Amino acid sequence: MKFESPEKLHEECGVLGFYNNDGFDTARMLYYGMFALQHRGQESCGIVTNDDGKLYHRKEKGLVGEVFDGAALNGLKGAIGVAHVRYATEGDLRENAQPIVSRYCKGSITLAHNGNIINAGALREELETRGAIFQSTNDTEVIMHLIAIARTRTHSVEDAVAEVMPQIEGAYSMVLMSPRKLLGIRDPKGFRPLCIGKIKNSYIFASESAALDTMRAEFVRDVEPGEVVLIDENGITSFKKFCGKKPSLCLFEYIYFARPDSVIDGVSVYRTRVETGRILARTYPADADVVIGVPDSGLHFAQGFAAESGIPYGDGLVRNRYSGRTLIKQTQRERELAVNIKLNALRASVEGRRIVMVDDSIVRGTTMANLIRLLKENGAREVHIRLGSPPFLWPCYFGTDIPSKKDLIAVKYPVDEIRKKVGADSLHYMRLEDLQKIGVRSDFGYCDACFSGNYPG
Ligand code: SF4
Repeated sequence: MKFESPEKLHEECGVLGFYNNDGFDTARMLYYGMFALQHRGQESCGIVTNDDGKLYHRKEKGLVGEVFDGAALNGLKGAIGVAHVRYATEGDLRENAQPIVSRYCKGSITLAHNGNIINAGALREELETRGAIFQSTNDTEVIMHLIAIARTRTHSVEDAVAEVMPQIEGAYSMVLMSPRKLLGIRDPKGFRPLCIGKIKNSYIFASESAALDTMRAEFVRDVEPGEVVLIDENGITSFKKFCGKKPSLCLFEYIYFARPDSVIDGVSVYRTRVETGRILARTYPADADVVIGVPDSGLHFAQGFAAESGIPYGDGLVRNRYSGRTLIKQTQRERELAVNIKLNALRASVEGRRIVMVDDSIVRGTTMANLIRLLKENGAREVHIRLGSPPFLWPCYFGTDIPSKKDLIAVKYPVDEIRKKVGADSLHYMRLEDLQKIGVRSDFGYCDACFSGNYPG
């Protein structure tokens, strides 16, 4: 899959599912949850609800608040529903918007997917030679076809899913809705998060626990890597046929993608970011007057750095909260201008001072160079950069839009050359060996392939 290449990396998607046993307004519950997952995809979104087998749907380009209004939500009836927020990859945004719906001889299947299927191309070719017709270019439709075919020879949709899981390789955290069932499915490596929540007697699947908080639901547990969780009139049933492999949860979820108020596979995203900042302060101390973070994701790293180093934490950059996704631009010039609209330096805080600025990562270097220029134009005497991740050196095949190697600054230049190019007085990346010390579980497994080149087998 070819990806467009904005300066910051993007997660592909966020998913939600709701099985309503209590007379809640299903569409509105999903709508509130989608707001909490908007950071995982800003290009299109959708909700499909199910009223005793009759489907209602709305999906469109745009943010949740743009796509849905009261009238749209009133039109989405039913007790079961699935929702999705998507970050565009390629092709027509509308045709690739999710959830996707398929009607076939056994009824209907609705699917919302976060991740990337590595062998989707080969599977699609095989399906096409057998007469399958595709409506979109996304890999989710390939999974949909496979499940629909498998369902014609199995007794249940969960059996069909179990037949398909060994055929698909890569990352998938999915929510599937059939006329009377809701399933949460996580690939055996667990690349992407998926958790279960409960409100009264109703159940929720969500990419991140922060969505459960927004829906006022309690966190029940994470879906285990390889697990299929079924919710139907009998309650919750778990299938663990594909569990037990060493997981490879994306470490970048903790560094950048996920919300700080989410807890993923038992680990607080916020705590890992503060701990990362502490490690950076111990490993790469700096002689400075103030520690600042690049809003929003750099702020908690900066708090950790300040706490560990004893250097005061301060505000150095002000974010324009109204700039939004319109600033996802593709040319270098557009990206440079976007930085200036999104962030401005706080002269009263930075003038005459030596600054440590902490951020999650550098992709191309454009944003970092512009931020340092901004700080120095506003009187900063020195700017020392500390980064919460190691250099990006390798592509991601599991649902993250890391640009091609030719665009990655760390592939092209050694660290000191990068420091000079962005105009920093010092610059240090988190060491790869320290990534495993950021508070993550020793009994779990993590993917760090974009930093290490060691792809999960
Ligand atoms: S390669 Fe990097 S971004 Fe992709 S899943 Fe692994 S850690 Fe995450």
